[in-house]
Amino acid sequence: MPTDPAGLSTVDKMNLGLDDALAAARDRYVAAHPRSAALADRARRVLPGGNTRSVLHIDPFAFRVAGADGAYLCDVDGHRYLDLLGDYSAGLLGHRPTTVAAAVRARLDEGWALGAMAEAEIVFAEAVAARFPSIEQVRFTNSGTEANLMAIMTARHATGCDRVVVFDGGYHGGLLSFGPSGARVRAPFEYAVLPYNDAAAVERELADHGDRIACVLVEPMLGASGCIPATPVFLAAVRGGTREAGAVLVFDEVMTSRLSVGGAQGLLGVTPDMTTLGKYLAGGLTFGAFGGPRDLMAAFDPDAGGLSHGGTFNNNAFTMAAGAAVHEIVTADGLLDALTARGDGLRARLTEVFDASPLPFSVTGWGSLCAVHPVGGPVAAPADLAGADDRWRQLFFHDLLDAGFYLAPRGYLAVSATVTDDDVDRFVDAVAAFCDRHRATR
Ligand code: PMP
Repeated sequence: MPTDPAGLSTVDKMNLGLDDALAAARDRYVAAHPRSAALADRARRVLPGGNTRSVLHIDPFAFRVAGADGAYLCDVDGHRYLDLLGDYSAGLLGHRPTTVAAAVRARLDEGWALGAMAEAEIVFAEAVAARFPSIEQVRFTNSGTEANLMAIMTARHATGCDRVVVFDGGYHGGLLSFGPSGARVRAPFEYAVLPYNDAAAVERELADHGDRIACVLVEPMLGASGCIPATPVFLAAVRGGTREAGAVLVFDEVMTSRLSVGGAQGLLGVTPDMTTLGKYLAGGLTFGAFGGPRDLMAAFDPDAGGLSHGGTFNNNAFTMAAGAAVHEIVTADGLLDALTARGDGLRARLTEVFDASPLPFSVTGWGSLCAVHPVGGPVAAPADLAGADDRWRQLFFHDLLDAGFYLAPRGYLAVSATVTDDDVDRFVDAVAAFCDRHRATR
């Protein structure tokens, strides 16, 4: 490789611009967030890395929130951000939605931590069963992670088999992560980890091991690994193959249930055996659920000597009340369809901006769930992101934050219902300005 008199290779010189731009963006961030920096130092003494939810880590430290309202977050350093992250999709209704607040307030007057049953959990369960084609009966949990663990255990119980088929890059919770950093904290099941969107690999696995497979656990769109939608051919292979093998097909709709009243399964016309849920369904309160047909879920019927499914907070009074209230909102007036259309529109406009720019960027997703990638695309599987330069990802994050837009450092956005068309316009303009500012950065 050619070098100049300073000993820098051509590649080094090209990279200098990007390194410098990122260092400058970080310096600006540090200078603009002195109070957050002090809180981060304090947090590091009692929380590993100052953090209790890995995904919220920001390099060099996370800003700390002072308050949140509607589509906006304010930090302790006096900055106001348009929140395009929407609590990683749990914040579909924006911050402090009035109906959720009213449901919680009513509970405050009536008592919580009941240690007994109430009507609210029936109302919420009826709502969930009414929404999703695959759910006749449901059990509530405290998180999407727990819902997926319980769905796997239900399938193992029903089939008498142990093998769990999942997909490379799949994320089903803190203990069920099939991305690069998930292996050491993964719940120790017998897994087959297949490439996502690879119908032939699914057919092979089911043909070779079908009689040992408890379930296939799949996201209709790969979420944490980059908002990569499943192809119809892939899902048809998964649905047909599991049916033939007698394995349970579990759709993890923790993220995708927001795409329509019937979730992704309603839009795809593919009905799994079981579905897991989480995130926004309880208005931002702690929530998860797993459900399926009556005969499968009957395993948990205490009258029939069923399996135990404990959980002090499974029917948490606030969560149940909020869940019933959220159902009313998201099933009324086409709210979810409008949100999906707004997200699709945003992605189309970002694609135009990136296509017109020399920078290596593309955007994937479905409806209000999007991911910006520092690769030219197309992106159809996690392997297509192998060439991504993380410095571009970080620069995009810091520059957009500086311009007043909050999204995930990895480039993920979950647009909430409080984000307006004007907000979308301003964000697209800011992304175009980023592309323009860095058109010569390499
Ligand atoms: N499944 C998917 C598809 C998710 O996106 C998540 C959370 N990001 C989970 C499961 C886990 O949910 P929770 O964080 O509530 O445990």
